[in-house]
Amino acid sequence: KEYQASPERYKTMAYNRCGKSGVLLPAISLGLWHNFGFVDNIHNAREILRSAFDLGITHFDLANNYGPPYGSAEENFGVLYKKDFLPYRDELFIATKAGYDMWPGPYGNWGSRKYLMASIDQSLTRMGLDYVDIFYHHRPDPETPLEETMVALSDIVRQGKALYVGISNYQPEETARAAALLQDLKVPFVLHQARYSIFEREVENGLLETLGHNGVGCIAFSPLAQGMLTDKYLNGIPEDSRAAKNFTYLDKEKLTSNLKRIQSLAAIARERGQKLSQMAIAWLLNQPQITSVLIGASSANQLKENIIALEQLQFSEEELVAINNISKG
Ligand code: NDP
Repeated sequence: KEYQASPERYKTMAYNRCGKSGVLLPAISLGLWHNFGFVDNIHNAREILRSAFDLGITHFDLANNYGPPYGSAEENFGVLYKKDFLPYRDELFIATKAGYDMWPGPYGNWGSRKYLMASIDQSLTRMGLDYVDIFYHHRPDPETPLEETMVALSDIVRQGKALYVGISNYQPEETARAAALLQDLKVPFVLHQARYSIFEREVENGLLETLGHNGVGCIAFSPLAQGMLTDKYLNGIPEDSRAAKNFTYLDKEKLTSNLKRIQSLAAIARERGQKLSQMAIAWLLNQPQITSVLIGASSANQLKENIIALEQLQFSEEELVAINNISKG
């Protein structure tokens, strides 16, 4: 059936300024790492994208190798974009990245100009787009001079293939050097994409501070620790969950060893009248440096449930202390 975006789509979502840039991003964004590959059900994927946009999620996050197989999330997104979202291009902020393994040989990985220039063209072709809103270098490359990578990002912007640039998984010092280079090149470097959740707080050791100094926003990936910070695993591992699947990165041991902490967090969430997933999202949005929380979802219902997080973002001092103790424990 033909898609008409909900007229209510901008009623409830909050939009946050991305660092000191002109860009606003939804407090909750959608990532297409899982659930959008050729191995997945495209009708379900379509349902998720439509629901997201109807809820005010204007930002979709992809990468060259999301799938599986590599490239298939972009290809599926391209198909669905053409069917449902063509009239809404200027209401969407679409991201893709290059930096991890993508194609065989020496030019399909890491951070060379050769790789980035070819990858952005491939991504645009797969998605059927003229440009992406933001193009990221997906991870630092210790062997390639940072300047080569940053000049490539800059040229991608100059060529009109991306409007803004970002980096992901960079350490604080590398981030500061990248920011200085991009500033010299006058390229709008607006966003750092980093792993951040109640369970993964590495960014608090200098990265958030560096981003603050440089006026760059932060978008938090795997905010639910890939599903651990939800009510889903409280009574075992459901068959249709990420932890039960083979080709994913959520291992069962990690889940089992964290179960006590998950249960304690779920109890705090219940006291607050929230699901654990909602509390995990609200907790991140409570951190002033966070522009957006980048969730994954395997169904439209998960998305709908997660958006309700926005109704209760406040935490008492006691709750924050209790969460700190669990996350450090
Ligand atoms: P999350 O931590 O949000 O995990 C998402 C998963 O949690 C879902 O797929 C689902 O798993 C489960 N879930 C979500 N909501 C609920 C709910 N309400 N109830 C029960 N279970 C729920 O994020 P991801 O790890 O998926 O990462 C999000 C995005 O971040 C990616 O799509 C990608 O765009 C980006 N990313 C970037 C990286 C980088 O290096 N830059 C690395 C990793 C991610 P299930 O399938 O079990 O239902």
